[in-house]
Amino acid sequence: MNFFNQIDFDYLLILSTAYLFVSASVARYGSMREVGGRKTLLISLFLTPVSGLIYVLGSQPKDTLKITHYRCPECGLEYTDGHLHCPSCKKEGKKIRLIKFSMRTY
Ligand SMILES: [Zn+2]
Repeated sequence: MNFFNQIDFDYLLILSTAYLFVSASVARYGSMREVGGRKTLLISLFLTPVSGLIYVLGSQPKDTLKITHYRCPECGLEYTDGHLHCPSCKKEGKKIRLIKFSMRTY
């Protein structure tokens, strides 16, 4: 009986080691992506490495920069910093709310 228990334990140990190894590999791949390695590692550990891999593949590569712009619908000016109202229109006494939009550059 003890003999079989020992085999079970070894098998479990090998399986969990392999599981950790695969998770770490997926996490290393994830660190090159926008999702980041730590988040990928957690997903891989708790929701299997397959889920982690799908998550990584669905994310953007890290070298793409997400830039947020703010455009004024009144004068058409664009701003990169977050004004609530258009500073240009504000000078003319108009309160125009800026529209936020983001784009990606490589
Ligand atoms: Zn404006």
